[in-house]
Amino acid sequence: MTQVCQRASLTSMQNLTKICADCKKEFKIDSGDLDLYEKVELKVPDQCFECRVKWHFAFCLFGKFRKGISDLSGENLITVLPNNPRYPIYKSHEWWSDAWDPMAFGQNYDLKRPFFDQLKELQEKIPRSHQTGENSTNCDWCDDVWECKNCYLCRSLLKCENVSYVYRVIDTKDSFDILYSFNLQNSYECLFCHNSFNLNFSENSRDCIDSHFLFDCRNCQNCFMCWNLRNKQYCIRNKQYSKEEYEKELRDIRLDSYKNLEKLKQEFEAILKKEVVHRENFNIRTTNSTGNYLTDCDKCINCFSWEKSQNCRNHIRGMNTKDSIDQTFTWNTEVSGNNSGVFGGFQIKHSSWSDARYSEYLDICVECEYCFGCIGLRKKKYCILNKQYTKGKYEELKGKIIEDMKKRGEYGEFLPYSMGITDYNFSTGMIYFPGTTKKEILKLGGYWSEEDFSSTDGISSFELPDSIVDTKPSISSQALICPESKYRFNISAEEYSFHKRKGFALPRLHFDLRMLKKAHKTAVLKSYPYKCFYCEKDIMAYYPPEWGYQKIACEECYKQNIA
Ligand SMILES: [Zn+2]
Ligand SMILES: [Zn+2]
Repeated sequence: MTQVCQRASLTSMQNLTKICADCKKEFKIDSGDLDLYEKVELKVPDQCFECRVKWHFAFCLFGKFRKGISDLSGENLITVLPNNPRYPIYKSHEWWSDAWDPMAFGQNYDLKRPFFDQLKELQEKIPRSHQTGENSTNCDWCDDVWECKNCYLCRSLLKCENVSYVYRVIDTKDSFDILYSFNLQNSYECLFCHNSFNLNFSENSRDCIDSHFLFDCRNCQNCFMCWNLRNKQYCIRNKQYSKEEYEKELRDIRLDSYKNLEKLKQEFEAILKKEVVHRENFNIRTTNSTGNYLTDCDKCINCFSWEKSQNCRNHIRGMNTKDSIDQTFTWNTEVSGNNSGVFGGFQIKHSSWSDARYSEYLDICVECEYCFGCIGLRKKKYCILNKQYTKGKYEELKGKIIEDMKKRGEYGEFLPYSMGITDYNFSTGMIYFPGTTKKEILKLGGYWSEEDFSSTDGISSFELPDSIVDTKPSISSQALICPESKYRFNISAEEYSFHKRKGFALPRLHFDLRMLKKAHKTAVLKSYPYKCFYCEKDIMAYYPPEWGYQKIACEECYKQNIA
């Protein structure tokens, strides 16, 4: 970390200061960024880091699950894509079939019109798959779902079974309300927890069993409301109990009562502020890097939730990347940049949800090479606006288009907001930038939904009995209204029996709201100056001051005192 800081100050003479074209704030681009822009052959951006990321998110969907029909077959489907999309929606198996040909929509380049207008026109003719993911069974009410079984109302999950209301979860079974966690079983309400069994209401803990309300605990069993513990059993509020005492104390803690559960959650939040020693970041086996939630990274600067990568900058959520810059939700890329949702490639730029080599301005293209401005292509080479060219003609026309785009100030920009695939208030952008306004997005050319999803057709969830003990299975057929979002929701039969078995009060908020509220904690893209709680050294940590965390430790002191 210090090496990086020194290097930054030594080269500060070569930093570039600009005014962001979107938010009008001053921002800096350092020499490391400039080196990578040169290597990837990207123009130096006109937007600050946050505005670039915000832009990419216009192509990343959070959405709201709804029923619909395929524009190809009329078959029923469930999707998170918007209600009135600008493009057709096909069922996933139809999208991947030969029932349609993206090349049939090929357009000639019109040199009198802006290229982006023509690309958008093409995009609106090409269908999108109703669901992202492959090889899942009984996971219709899910999106971005891979190799899963019997999952319900989940997003971004791999190899999971019998889970509901999870987001960004891998290898997890029989669990509800889990976010950004790997390998959990029989667990509830966990955030960034790994390799645990029957872990509930916990955050940032690993290798724990039969415990509740843990924060930053490792290898603990039968612990309640504990923090920064290692290898402990039978602790309550960081105090050691005997097995018998522990069991006696626990019997008096009412997790079945919603009111009491809320009190316990408040106590937990207060402990995070006053008692917990927080690491300056959550980086693991990571060297010469800045950012948060990095694992096995080297020379990754300003990267977040990123794994197994080298020499990357300004990256959010992804892995397996080398020599790349400005990518969001991206993996398996090399010498690439300014991408959102790209899932593989070499020298791929300004693209969304594609996998390609030596290509630019693609959207939902798979295994393509040498393509420019194409939508929905599979295994194609030398195409422009979904039309086939020879190698020679391709190079010539691409050169001409780039020249025209440069004259219009289009070249090097990301796909315009007007090509975004969802209303911004239903994009992942709202997790990272919850303060984003309709006015701001419309000004940038994007979309904002005014659709009213509120409902009065049900009882307020606050009318549920306080204790799960007083609730009957018939509750699953009762429509509930979330007091905050006014969205209608149900307690599923599986959810009811899970809560009943665990003796946990039923949730009162709509599942999307529960997920979004939790997700904000892992979505901080800015560091703030603090002094190490132990050695008083100046450190930068990813905790906004309004969180009120009082004990933040530098890496060395955390290791000495906690780990
Ligand atoms: Zn900006
Ligand atoms: Zn320290």
